[in-house]
Amino acid sequence: MSERLHTGAVIGILGGGQLGRMLSVAASRLGFKCHIYDPSPNSPAGQVASFVTTASFEDDASLRDFANSVDVITYEFENIPASALDLLEKRRPVRPGRNALEVSQDRYLEKKFLADAGLRTARYAEVGDIESLDRAMVDVGLPAILKTRRFGYDGKGQIQIREREEMEEAHRQMAGQAAILEKFVDFEAEISVIGARSHDGVVSCYDPGENIHRNGILRTTRVPSRLGMDECREAVATTCKILDQLDYIGVIGVEFFVTEHGLLINEMAPRVHNSGHWTQQGCNVDQFEQHIRAVAMLPLGSAARYANVAMENLIGNDILKIPEILMENNASLHLYGKESVRAGRKMGHVNRIDEKD
Ligand code: AMP
Repeated sequence: MSERLHTGAVIGILGGGQLGRMLSVAASRLGFKCHIYDPSPNSPAGQVASFVTTASFEDDASLRDFANSVDVITYEFENIPASALDLLEKRRPVRPGRNALEVSQDRYLEKKFLADAGLRTARYAEVGDIESLDRAMVDVGLPAILKTRRFGYDGKGQIQIREREEMEEAHRQMAGQAAILEKFVDFEAEISVIGARSHDGVVSCYDPGENIHRNGILRTTRVPSRLGMDECREAVATTCKILDQLDYIGVIGVEFFVTEHGLLINEMAPRVHNSGHWTQQGCNVDQFEQHIRAVAMLPLGSAARYANVAMENLIGNDILKIPEILMENNASLHLYGKESVRAGRKMGHVNRIDEKD
């Protein structure tokens, strides 16, 4: 089981978005082939991979064929149905493992896991019916955010509750989905750490990046962040602890709120992360190659940073800026091959580098 992959081996990737695309490019640089599994045809990752399966995650026959055709399975999104995982895990190693997926698929389990590990998050409470929401508002305090336990991303499935009167409307909008109520954090900044762990327990983290979100969607990440040395160390140590607790193999993204009372973990993603795209121009081994190295049982690369980087997401009509970006001397453009532009859709990103002081 702990065999290194050799040249020509096939890495199966669940999900065909931009993260899968960049993983696939990194894998090919290391001599591997990728097989993308995604329900949509002409996916960003499928365009650059050796093999593609276009089928749903409920299609057992396709999942079986996919598993039989690859050497290892990884993923670029965390909402993989348990039934698909059951089937895949029996046939090939899935890295990162099930534990990491289950914890990060569910905001309540994630918060509980972090609390059990002695790590700090915003105050929260589990919410089912309206009575439990009422109790949660007392326990947690207002203002707060009601978040679906599952399938939330980029700020989707979240409703702010500022005053008691907003409770019933918020509950109605949840439409019976299990949720948590989370205290609104008056943060000074948001940062994230991209970390990696190999099969033999070696851990390597990149410098924390500072993130700016708009409407729940990441807009920019900058390194270095404005964090002091001690907070940087704490963020990295926390990420290492999470990786070890999960006996993790691969890259993880851990997001933090920086508050006047210290760092709080917002959430974690068991995969390469948008806030780690700066590593493509800031480090010798970027997050995508690092993840491929880990799942292929190769030694991790150095996470040392040799440049200051500002990553900007190109969302929707931002791609109209491409002609100007191409004229910039210090900018590297990454486009995802998405044919149609939609408001809020991530079309690409640009990394702007600056020599390190
Ligand atoms: P999430 O999908 O939970 O990462 O939320 C997306 C963004 O919404 C975060 O990056 C924050 O900018 C904001 N947000 C989420 N939870 C909170 C919170 N408890 N307090 C303040 N802002 C939040």
